[in-house]
Amino acid sequence: MNARGRDVLVQAALDGRPQTTGILYHKDEGHCALGILAAAAGPLWEGGERSPNMLVWGPAVVDLTALISLYGLEGWQECPACPGPGPGYSAIDLITHLNDYHRWDFLTIARKLGPEESTP
Ligand SMILES: [Zn+2]
Repeated sequence: MNARGRDVLVQAALDGRPQTTGILYHKDEGHCALGILAAAAGPLWEGGERSPNMLVWGPAVVDLTALISLYGLEGWQECPACPGPGPGYSAIDLITHLNDYHRWDFLTIARKLGPEESTP
């Protein structure tokens, strides 16, 4: 995850945005980490034709290819929280895994997956 993705998640934490699991967005429970990133991407997820790389989100369609490019979510890596050698996750899947399975909050995901924040 690049600095842009990290900063979106850090800001969500600072704003006290509610965090949910298992769904990108729930009207009462808020967003999951990937949902926060998708929402911040704005026009990227409005409309468009469906493809295997798109998630349907209510009336909207999330273009995963655009999210991957915007937030530098290329590549695969092992889960930093699971013990031992793991199966490896795509960066998108790892975010949902950490959010849903390990219940990491926005700030922890930002700090562990994003580049280190520079100190002024
Ligand atoms: Zn894990």
